[in-house]
Parts: sequence; structure tokens; C-alpha cells
Amino acid sequence: MRREDFPILEDKVYGKRLVYLDNAATTQRPRALIETLTDAYYHHNANIHRGVHHLSQDATQRHEEARQKVADFINARSAKEIIFTKGTTDSLNMLAFSFGEAFVKEGDEVVVSQLEHHSNIVPWQMLCERKKAKLKVLPLDKNLLIDTTQLNNILTNRTRIVSIAQVSNVLGTIQPVEDIIRLCHQHHIPVCIDGAQSTPHLNVDMQSLDCDFFVFSAHKMYGPTGLGVLYGKQEWLDQLPPAEGGGEMIEHVSFEKTTYNTLPYKFEAGTPDFISSCALAATIDYINGIGRADIYDYEQELTSYLEKQLSTIEGVKVYAQGKEKAGAVSFNVYHNGQLLHPFDVGTLLDHQGVAVRTGHHCAEPLIDYLGVPGTVRASVAMYNTQEDLDILITALKRAIEMLI
Ligand code: PLP
Repeated sequence: MRREDFPILEDKVYGKRLVYLDNAATTQRPRALIETLTDAYYHHNANIHRGVHHLSQDATQRHEEARQKVADFINARSAKEIIFTKGTTDSLNMLAFSFGEAFVKEGDEVVVSQLEHHSNIVPWQMLCERKKAKLKVLPLDKNLLIDTTQLNNILTNRTRIVSIAQVSNVLGTIQPVEDIIRLCHQHHIPVCIDGAQSTPHLNVDMQSLDCDFFVFSAHKMYGPTGLGVLYGKQEWLDQLPPAEGGGEMIEHVSFEKTTYNTLPYKFEAGTPDFISSCALAATIDYINGIGRADIYDYEQELTSYLEKQLSTIEGVKVYAQGKEKAGAVSFNVYHNGQLLHPFDVGTLLDHQGVAVRTGHHCAEPLIDYLGVPGTVRASVAMYNTQEDLDILITALKRAIEMLI
């Protein structure tokens, strides 16, 4: 599907076809995005919101149209609910700070799960340290899914927020977030969904998901680096204080008192990345042009094929094998009961032109839980092909031969 739209994939690595299977870390960018970026710098560059001149108004309009496009893409009720940030990490830090200032006090509790990315652990942990609150952890079941049966044991009347990933960046598994949101709402507890790994693969819909906050990064969904989104239901965002001060987030400033701007600007201090927002809009047009349902079906075929091929190799253990996945498949290789170190496997794959990720994938608590030093993770995107996966499998067999 559309490999030719991604110019970097024509490059060779060590003289070989580049087989890029590190998409969960970052995706490659389509020509449509690259051309929009260049065009924006050539023809639409002026600081937004502040100028009366034509170029500033043009850039402002493009930035605000991009916000609306993002709102439509995730089916938010309003563009006011879309806050542009630097990425998922930035969104989560802003939310943890701002929500924490408004709602978390000593003795309160914040809940995450065992499989979170560090970005969805550390900001909450820092908040808990600052406020003398407690970080609680939802355990996993035997299928490596968040164990929803444990939710009622974990939630208490001190739980202020639950923050969990929709798709695990290590395992690729789709988590039962709908059930978790419903159960939390029965207790009037808001839920933040880390959508860094779901937005690139699933049709994420804020109104049907009904989460209170949702965060994602543009660069993991074929968009520009340095841009992300913090979505929040308006009724929540209205109650939160700004996380940062500066230009644009204010209504009036005096030395005695500053009043704050309306949504979403209250949360966007300083000059936003109005070039990247337009590039993200072009990316969304590109994705919509292909169709998210078709992308999903195609990627499902790829991940099932990959799992099937991996399971034919002796000694390969696929994590959460057979469970519904979006994008990523993690595995390890054993020989005579001994783990072949994932770094060694990954390095030997790289030498054959195959880019995968190895290590803890910024999810050390999950890797500790799995009881390994790391995994090898192959993650697909819409431009990968069955041929890419066949090359990976051949390269993996060769790597194993070299290591045993
Ligand atoms: N959350 C998840 C599930 C991720 O996979 C990642 C990145 O890998 C992040 C958060 C952090 O994203 P970023 O580095 O774009 O801020």
C-alpha cells in the first residue's frame, strides 16, 4: 500500500532495500507532508494570531483549519478541545501538572497500568511526589491485557484519575479501554487515554470512546515531529489551570493580576508550531484519502502474517500471541532454553537492512514483569509489505544461525 508515497523508502541501507519496521518509534513521512512543510516555509510563514497583516492572517487561518481537521479526525465535539503540544510526552506532562494542581491533594490516588510507556508513568509519579499522593498500578491478566476485573479493587474514593494506553507500545495489544472508561465513569473518575500507539492504526473517536482526555504524537502517524495533541472534554479543560505561562495564553496581564485566555489558547503559551500543524493537516488528508478502515485491515493482515511466520521459527516466543494487535509484535529468541540477547538479534537484523527496535521500549515496568532484559519489536505501518516481512524472517533465521 503506497510505499512509493514515502521517499525515504527508496534509500538503501548497507546497499540493501530498507525494511523499516520501527514504526512504533516513529513513522516515515509521505511526500504530501514534506511538500506542505516546504510550501509553508516558502509561502505561509508569519507568526499567527497577532498580526493584522495578510501573511499573519493567512498563517493563522491555516493553523486554525488544521485544529479543526484534527478535531474531525478524532471526532471531538469542538476544535476548542484540541490543544497543540510538542507530543504525547508533553501532553501528559501538561495534563499531570494542570490536573494535579486542580484536583490532586495529599492522600489522593492516581492509577496507571503495568504496561505503560514511561511517559504515562513518570509525570504522574512526579505529581504524586509533589502532592504526597499515591500512584497505584492496574495489573495485567494472563493474556497481558489490563485486568479489568481488578479495577474495583484498585479504585477507591481517593482515586482522582486513571491514565492508560489504548495500545501497548511493546506488545501492540489493544487494551480494553472502553470497559475501563465505563467502569471509572460509574465512580465519576476521569480517564486519560494514551493514544500514541492507537491513533496511527485505529479509528479513534472521542465521542464514542467517551474518555475525558486523550493524547497522541503526530510523528507516529506519518505526521511532523515536534507536534502532538492533548484532547480534553471542554467541561474538564474549563476547570483546569494553565500549565505554562507566556504569550497568547492570557486575556489581560498586569503586575497585580493576569487573567487567562479562552480554550484552547489558555494551554498554548508562546508561539505554536504553526508550520507543523499545517503539515499534520496534510497528513490527515493523505490518511483520509486512503481510508482508515482500509489501513486497519491491511495492517491486520500484516501483523497476523508476521505472527504466523515467526511462530514457524524454532525457539521464537511471541508475546501476547494471537491477541488482537495494532502495529507492533514483540518477540524473543531462545536456544536450548537460553535467551539470545535482543540487542544481538537486532544488530544482526540491522546489518541485513532490517530496522527493528530492541530493548525495554521505554516501558521498564512491563519488561521487568515479562522477566527479560528486553524484546525485539517489529512494528508495521501502511507502507510495509509482505515482502518486507519475508525479508525480516529470512534475516532473523540467518541472525539465529550466527548466534547459536
Ligand atoms: N506513549 C506511548 C504508548 C508511546 O509509544 C510513546 C512513544 O513511543 C509515548 C507515549 C511518547 O511519545 P513521544 O515520544 O512522541 O512524546
